[in-house]
Amino acid sequence: MDCIFCKIVLKEIPSKILYEDDKMLVFHDISPQAPSHVLLIPKKHIPTLTDLTPDDTVLMGHMMVKIPEIVKELGLTGKGVRLVSNCGAEAGQAVFHLHFHLMGGRAFTWPPG
Ligand code: AMP
Ligand code: ZN
Repeated sequence: MDCIFCKIVLKEIPSKILYEDDKMLVFHDISPQAPSHVLLIPKKHIPTLTDLTPDDTVLMGHMMVKIPEIVKELGLTGKGVRLVSNCGAEAGQAVFHLHFHLMGGRAFTWPPG
């Protein structure tokens, strides 16, 4: 499969891993947009948010409830963080393997661009 994030899961491409288990991987974004910027990805190849099915309920719940632990690992507990998933090219998605950007360490504005 020609997917850069699947290659990261398989360790065919190096990444700076912050957290890993059997279902998900968290690694530092190569082009950080904030002092802390990691990507949360499922190990399963799912292209984007609108490809999720009810079968992914446990996986998505698992990923979301890991966020407090990851935020703590980043030293951001109690600080503002932002979670973003760009869904589709028009929304800015460049890598079509579902991922959540978790960013912190600076102030964020709303709405995003
Ligand atoms: P998106 O535009 O939402 O699809 O985000 C893709 C993100 O993946 C961008 O923030 C990129 O900087 C990041 N990215 C692309 N290739 C790599 C890589 N090899 N290692 C870490 N992050 C990457
Ligand atoms: Zn993939």
